[in-house]
Amino acid sequence: MKAGLQTLLLSPCADGEAKAPAWFTNTLAQARSMGVRRIVLFGTVSETCREQCRAAGIESACYPSPDAFPACSRERHDCTLIREGCCYIAADGSVFPCPRTKVVLGNVLETPLDEIVAESEVLDDLRHPEERIKDACASCPDFPSCCGCRGNAYEQTGDYLAADPFCPRNKGIPRKALPVSAAPYIPHKGRAVRIDRILEIGEKGGLVEAVVQPESDVCTRDGKVDECALLEMMAQASGALYLFRVTRHEKPEELPGALVGVNAFRVYEIPKIGQRLLLRVRKQIRFDVFYLVLVRVYADRHLLAEGTLKLYEGAI
Ligand code: SF4
Ligand code: SF4
Repeated sequence: MKAGLQTLLLSPCADGEAKAPAWFTNTLAQARSMGVRRIVLFGTVSETCREQCRAAGIESACYPSPDAFPACSRERHDCTLIREGCCYIAADGSVFPCPRTKVVLGNVLETPLDEIVAESEVLDDLRHPEERIKDACASCPDFPSCCGCRGNAYEQTGDYLAADPFCPRNKGIPRKALPVSAAPYIPHKGRAVRIDRILEIGEKGGLVEAVVQPESDVCTRDGKVDECALLEMMAQASGALYLFRVTRHEKPEELPGALVGVNAFRVYEIPKIGQRLLLRVRKQIRFDVFYLVLVRVYADRHLLAEGTLKLYEGAI
């Protein structure tokens, strides 16, 4: 997975503090080696930051806020910044695709920028709009030159790949927003469905909700959830997030997929029937048609179980 970077948008200084942060110098050096052509600085910017941009030989401009940057406006359905390659870094080092598409890709305090950009699944999606953007935008005649404002889509629907809900062409089309029922995004039917809703999608994963009802066939005699059912929930959550991400039109296609193994499956506390469970999924690595995902199951912020699943996904 490779994505270049042409424009780097930065809010380097925390509010009211005109002081270059510790990560700035390294990140600038990486930007230069990545071929970044333009840096746009937002907010109160220290003279040191400007000086370092000049010394690096990268063209820079300053604006009081992203809203004042003419290339980025809610009306820019044809914004090409992300498609051409851009990232936004906030003062705390968090990296996003752009100032209003607030999907966290990583943090430059923990991971070098070039690594974050090269490994990002979200950026890869956004740099290939013709294959990934969904719904009304995907069938629009202007789509070759326009793929909507991704910030509008994310703010309004929680899905960075959704159609731009503010485009006049999309007026009157019902806005589909997260959370959504997970059932259409898994091949299982009826009582075999173990998860309820997709709550979030993000960098290499997302968040899924499940509540086991008392009449479910996975209840043990002491009113708890069977351990095997937990594992199945984890697999279904991973599959549902994947299918939600790649489904471009109303009806998801059924893709072949299967759980082929599990590593380090640990149950710290068996969930109770009726408890609201949150399954946090994060893809770790992919090789050929297999990928590893780390799934953690929480209830009331307590980690109840975790495991690394090996999944076969024939259609990836
Ligand atoms: S996608 Fe929208 S929010 Fe993001 S940079 Fe472009 S115009 Fe701005
Ligand atoms: S529907 Fe609007 S935002 Fe989407 S591609 Fe067409 S013109 Fe662009």
